[in-house]
Amino acid sequence: MTDDWLLRAETICLQCDGHCCHEAHPPISGHCHERLLGGRIPAEYFETNGYNRLRCRPDGTCICWNEGKCLIHDIKPETCRAGPFTFDVKGDVIEIFLKFESICPLVRLLKEVPAAYETQYSVAVRNITHLVSNLTDNELAVICSIDEPDTWKVAEIPRQRSGHP
Ligand code: SF4
Ligand code: SF4
Repeated sequence: MTDDWLLRAETICLQCDGHCCHEAHPPISGHCHERLLGGRIPAEYFETNGYNRLRCRPDGTCICWNEGKCLIHDIKPETCRAGPFTFDVKGDVIEIFLKFESICPLVRLLKEVPAAYETQYSVAVRNITHLVSNLTDNELAVICSIDEPDTWKVAEIPRQRSGHP
């Protein structure tokens, strides 16, 4: 298996111009906060609104978005790594959702190439379970109250109450 689909994925995201980075407000676990502060992210890039998250600019772009690219690609938050998969938490179950092709062109590639789907699904589950295990129930309740239309459920996995990836 070649990694051709990785190159295709990069091209698709570049052409999309970061639709998923608009009004994204990715949640930031304490673990991720330390990682970003230890990198190159100033404290004023964060805000709290029921949960710790990255700010958006007045035009809706993520504060870490610049000229079509994520400035923190190598250390970006869990939900950014998980896309186009997203999640909800119901008790001790984490529901995994996949966005519709209509809002994420990358989904078509995931459907066409099983290796791409399996790889990104594994990345998503690993990052989502890590995030969920490092947030409080109150933070999760606020995050999960945010409506995410145009997705469909693809899996349910057990919730881990604590842990690291
Ligand atoms: S993950 Fe989907 S929505 Fe985000 S930039 Fe890539 S193609 Fe666009
Ligand atoms: S951190 Fe990067 S990938 Fe995540 S929303 Fe912001 S610009 Fe997009």
